[in-house]
Amino acid sequence: MGCSLAYHLAAQGRKPLVLERGRLGGGSTGRCAGGVRQQFSTAINVRLGQRAIELLGEFESVTGTDPQYRPIGYLLLATSQRQADNLARDVSLQRRLQVPVEVLGADDVGRLVPGLATHDVRAASLCPTDGLAGPNEVTTGYAAAAVRLGAQVEEGVEVVGIDLQGETVVGVRTDHGVVSSPEVVVCTGPQSRRLGEMAAITIPVDPLKRHVLLTEPFPGRPSHSPMTIDLATGLYFHPEGDGLLMGMGDPSQTFGDDLSVDWDFLPKVIEEGSRRLPPLQGASLRTVWAGLYEMTPDRQPLVGSVGARPGLWLACGFSGHGFMMAPPVGESLAAVMCGTAPRIDMSPFAPLRFSGGTLVPESVFI
Ligand SMILES: Cc1cc2nc3c(=O)[nH]c(=O)nc-3n(C[C@H](O)[C@H](O)[C@H](O)COP(=O)(O)OP(=O)(O)OC[C@H]3O[C@@H](n4cnc5c(N)ncnc54)[C@H](O)[C@@H]3O)c2cc1C
Repeated sequence: MGCSLAYHLAAQGRKPLVLERGRLGGGSTGRCAGGVRQQFSTAINVRLGQRAIELLGEFESVTGTDPQYRPIGYLLLATSQRQADNLARDVSLQRRLQVPVEVLGADDVGRLVPGLATHDVRAASLCPTDGLAGPNEVTTGYAAAAVRLGAQVEEGVEVVGIDLQGETVVGVRTDHGVVSSPEVVVCTGPQSRRLGEMAAITIPVDPLKRHVLLTEPFPGRPSHSPMTIDLATGLYFHPEGDGLLMGMGDPSQTFGDDLSVDWDFLPKVIEEGSRRLPPLQGASLRTVWAGLYEMTPDRQPLVGSVGARPGLWLACGFSGHGFMMAPPVGESLAAVMCGTAPRIDMSPFAPLRFSGGTLVPESVFI
């Protein structure tokens, strides 16, 4: 997010400074699955997904880096009547916004994903232009392009304080010294609550651990299939190289920034995965890692200025969708910060919404 915003600010003639306490992409971005989709339940998220795909389409010509976008499609499976009704409602919103989404039955889905158990599938939606991109390529591509336009990127520099004059932000303190600036943007992913404390405000973002599993090759592995999501469990998988990449949320997971792998939870993912894709039963794991979602109370991001702290902006709390949202949110937030019209109105993400604004929660949360 920081690199996308820096690029889009620099493209408008600003000279932003990105401070990264570790290495670029070393936070949630480097641990994410790289998924980009337009199949959401809220208009703003559908529009952000559409714009993300447009921006990834022009990414190489604009930044010089191939973002590795692969439009393998996203397939959402509904197995209860309630999910099927929600899916139909979401599809009609997506179609109204010109997303090329199709509704499929169990037989179509079985042909699309060889080996999939479809006995309980009531309905499914497929958007063939959804897909996957490279988190490392997009992050470093934006950073390099931003630097060419005059931005500065400092790695290994940690922000340890936010300086205020009265209530107005005047800069940050780092472990390498003080930086004066009339504007500071918090885009520190799962650590954003901590940055809020530095400015004596509450940023309602909490870290939530999620695992990603990559299997070895196994007999019956679908070699070409969309990113497939079982809406009942949140289980998702797609072919990755000669293995299968998969994940699923743990409903008992509590907030915290521990990144160790919960080995006890993995058999549940395999069990659920084997129920949906029986050939998985014979698979062994190649690697597993954990990363942090950055959750807000309504699973929608916090993007915009903070009224109580003039000069302070937020771009955080993407609740597990921040990789795909970074290109369009960076673009529109940069426009707002530069006083020009944003391509996408992000007022539904206004940080102030929790103190009296309108909440529009996203329900297609994976
Ligand atoms: C397992 C998993 C799978 C996911 N899959 C997807 C997916 O398919 N699609 C999708 O869109 N999203 C996905 N996400 C979510 C996505 O990874 C995040 O929403 C996104 O990476 C957030 O980007 P960010 O730049 O806001 O945060 P980060 O990538 O975490 O970047 C924040 C940076 O701030 C730095 N930082 C923190 N505190 C300080 C400080 N005090 N001083 C200086 N620097 C600091 C950190 O080191 C970090 O590098 C997934 C996440 C996980 C964990």
